[in-house]
Order: sequence, then C-alpha cells, then structure tokens
Amino acid sequence: MRAVDIIQKKRDSQRLSQAEIEFFVNGFAAGTIPDYQAAAWAMAVLLNGMDPQETTELTLAMVASGETLDLTGLIDIAVDKHSTGGVGDKTSLLVCPLVAACGLPVGKMSGRGLGFSGGTLDKLESIPGYRCDLSTAEFREQLQTIGLVLTGQSADLAPADGKFYALRDVTGTVPSIPLIASSVMGKKLAAGAQAIVLDVKSGLGAFMSTLAEARELAELMVEIGRISDRQTVALLSDMNQPLGQAVGNALELKEALAALRGGGPADFRNHSLEVAGHMLVLGKRATSHAAGVQMAEAVLSNGLALAKFRELVAAQGGDLAVIDDPDRLPLAAIREVVPAPQDGYLSQIHARIVGETAVLLGGGRAAKSDSIDHAVGIEILHNVGDRVEAGQALFVLHSSDAGKHANARARLLQAHQFVDEPVDPLPLFYGTIQ
Ligand code: URA
Repeated sequence: MRAVDIIQKKRDSQRLSQAEIEFFVNGFAAGTIPDYQAAAWAMAVLLNGMDPQETTELTLAMVASGETLDLTGLIDIAVDKHSTGGVGDKTSLLVCPLVAACGLPVGKMSGRGLGFSGGTLDKLESIPGYRCDLSTAEFREQLQTIGLVLTGQSADLAPADGKFYALRDVTGTVPSIPLIASSVMGKKLAAGAQAIVLDVKSGLGAFMSTLAEARELAELMVEIGRISDRQTVALLSDMNQPLGQAVGNALELKEALAALRGGGPADFRNHSLEVAGHMLVLGKRATSHAAGVQMAEAVLSNGLALAKFRELVAAQGGDLAVIDDPDRLPLAAIREVVPAPQDGYLSQIHARIVGETAVLLGGGRAAKSDSIDHAVGIEILHNVGDRVEAGQALFVLHSSDAGKHANARARLLQAHQFVDEPVDPLPLFYGTIQ
C-alpha cells in the first residue's frame, strides 16, 4: 500500500477500506508517513468526509495505534467527559473536582489549545510546577488515592491522535466531523472510559458552526460509544459567545478558582453543574440528573470541591500558594479596561474573534512548537442580551506587547455588536442525545 494512493482515493471522494485506514493511521503514528502526506490526507477527509463506518474504523485505528488503559478493578466505574472545544470553555477545571468531591473518581486526560479554542492543559500549566506528564503508573496511583487526575494524554495512549491533533491545529483541518469524532472517541476509549459525557458545542466559537452539524457530530459519537459498548450522553451546548468571562489561560484558571469558591459567572457555574449532574448519573452516584446537580451544588457550597482541587494540584506538583491566593497567578504587563463605544443591547459577542484574539496575544499557538504566554487574555464583562451604556466597562484586555494590544483592542470592539431593540439572552444548551 502507498500513502499517496490513499490520499488520492479520499481526494476523489471514495470510501477507504479498514485496511487502508489502519495503514495510514499506523504509518503516521510510526513516522513512516510524513507530516505533509498526513496533512494532505486530513484535508481530503475534511473536504470529502467519511461515512459512519469509516469513522468508526478510524476511531478504532486511533485506539489500536497504542496502549489502552484498563481501569477495571481500580475504580468501580470510569466516567469521563470531553468537550469538543470552545472559547472560555474551562468546564473541566470545575466539573472534575465537583464530581470527584461527590465520590466518583475522575481520571481525565486533557488536550492543549486547538486553533482558536483553549485547552485544559495550557490552563493548568499556569500553575507553577503543575505536571501534565504523569506516567500511567502515576495516573493509576493518584486515581486510586485521591480520586482525581487531570493530566496530558499519555504518549502511549492513542498516539496517532496526539500527532494528528497537533498537525490539524496548524493545517486548518480541525472542523471535520469524522476527524473530531474519531479524535474524541479514540482518546476516550483508549483511556478506559466506561461511560462518557460529551459536551458538543455549536456556534460562532465552536468547530461546528451550526446546530445541525453539532447534532450530526453528537449522534455519530453516541453511536461510536454504542458500538464500543460505552454508555455515552452528548449535550448540545451554545458556543456563540464565550463561556464565562475569562478567555486566556491564567485568567480562566482564576475564574475556575472563583467558581470553586462559590463565585464566578452564572453561565459557567450552571453549565458545569449540568455536566457534573450527567456524570454522576452515569457513575451511579445519583438516581436522576436533578439529584446529581444537587449533589454537585452541595460540594461547591461546602468547600469540598475546592479542597479536592487543592489535593489535585498538590499531587501533581503545583504551587498551592496560587490556589490560595489566585492574584499570584501570572499577570500580563499591560491591562486596560475598555469602555463601550455606544449605548445599546448586545446582539453578538463573537466567540471565534475573541478566541482568535487570545491566540494572537500569545495565549495559543500558531505553530506546533510555539510556546504560549499564560498571562494574556480577555475578560468579557457582558453577555448577549445585556443593556450597556456608552462608557461602561465592556472588556478588560491583558497583554504583554503594545502593538498586539492595539490590534486586539480593535478586534474585540468589532466582536461586540450593539442594537437598539432588546435581544433575548442565548440558551446554555439546545438538547441532549443519548
Ligand atoms: N477535541 C478533540 O479531542 N479532538 C478534536 O479533533 C477536536 C476537539
């Protein structure tokens, strides 16, 4: 078999066989198929798609490209969550300690930023010393002792996905239903999840811009879960405006800490409680979703969730001083409160522009090897539907470079649109697929 023939077949919209998919995925993982061929193939898949059977085969090939983690015997049930990516989407930082504090162990392998969308690992690495490279033995040990792990995808689990993920980030090949479905489900299956809650975003700041596409992605992933015998629930959630106020790594971590202390923006808190409620049902700790949400609310208000997060940070080598005093997190040199240029109701806060601006400020990567600036970012102070007066604070810009600051300021002003007539707030969720 030759990689070029497989690329050409997909370029010409033909179906790939299981053997061809396995050849390509294994070849890329092993380094015998170079980045340029993998990039061409990913673009052909993005443009011409894959049917559900091909996507399932691609998912299983991702899993088979490496080891799989078997958590049976270690914990009674392994429930995982995954978001398809968004702007200001820091839910794992809140949901995982909430669920773990309710007595359901969570061992999660997270990713880095992808395109305009942030990544949990980059946020966690704002904590000095925090390790995202636990070995499998350390992962197992920590899951058993404290019941909470938030680390990077270990290099031996679905290694092909790790390589494709980094390549897609810089080749414009992220927003493809088969590539996202196989990436997400491949990781979850390899990491030993027995039940999975998927947070599938749609809108301006999501990889799926329409609800119809998000539904198609969600249905496909639930189907892959069914075929693989894992109970899977997918939530369809809004990503037209950023979730919460903070966008940028240290700022998002700070917002998650505020939420763990009972504060923080209502949309972020409510979104996270909803996801936690579903995980607690799948993990058989709650008999209904409403009961799960109530359990999660209780550990938020009695401080157990914050205590669990502290335990996590200590176990992974992070500096607890920043958890106890979040003002010690990295702070950008330039900070400006930018006022609203006019009166009106906010009809749009364009999440993708906000996410791309955070990347341009240095909070994300333009090339695979780029390092990131944890301190930069944006605090979006309003939601769609809010009435704002001219001169009122609209957003706070945190940057480290005057030129980038001016550019970001202009882009963010454009991201906010005002109208004279009242506007309905955006919903948090559009439905659930199971
Ligand atoms: N999240 C993933 O894990 N993979 C993708 O391809 C997109 C979002």
